[in-house]
Amino acid sequence: MAELTSHHKERYGQYVGNPRGRKPDPARCAEEVCTNYHFSQCARKRGHGPEGAFCKQHDPAAKQARDKAANRKYELNNWNRYGRSAAKAAVGQALLDHLDQKCTFDDVVKAAEEFRAKQREIDELKAHNEAQAHIADRAPLTPTQGDSHE
Ligand SMILES: [Zn+2]
Repeated sequence: MAELTSHHKERYGQYVGNPRGRKPDPARCAEEVCTNYHFSQCARKRGHGPEGAFCKQHDPAAKQARDKAANRKYELNNWNRYGRSAAKAAVGQALLDHLDQKCTFDDVVKAAEEFRAKQREIDELKAHNEAQAHIADRAPLTPTQGDSHE
């Protein structure tokens, strides 16, 4: 039988109506979750993160990665809305500066490449979002006729 980890609480689901709560199940994820205003130990099997104390979803590293991806998305959306024209103008300015011999051609290329890289990231994000929406829309997968060459 699995041992409790240092991440498991002594009691889960304690509240005024049940001050003693419930004993932790050492086989399950250590996270305390809230469903319909009711707290309890996460029902999933543990095995991820520090001491293998968490399920895949509650693994602190996975949570951090999700937060990081969300921040990046926010940053990109902001750039797309408010920063794009400034970034475009910066490329134009670099080109003008180059024509005035105030900067090298490499500086122009660099500005343009930075713009392209950001744009590409936004395109990828859009494609990813569309693919997600497409998957969510889709009926359960069924084998497509004509796909098989057996
Ligand atoms: Zn969990």
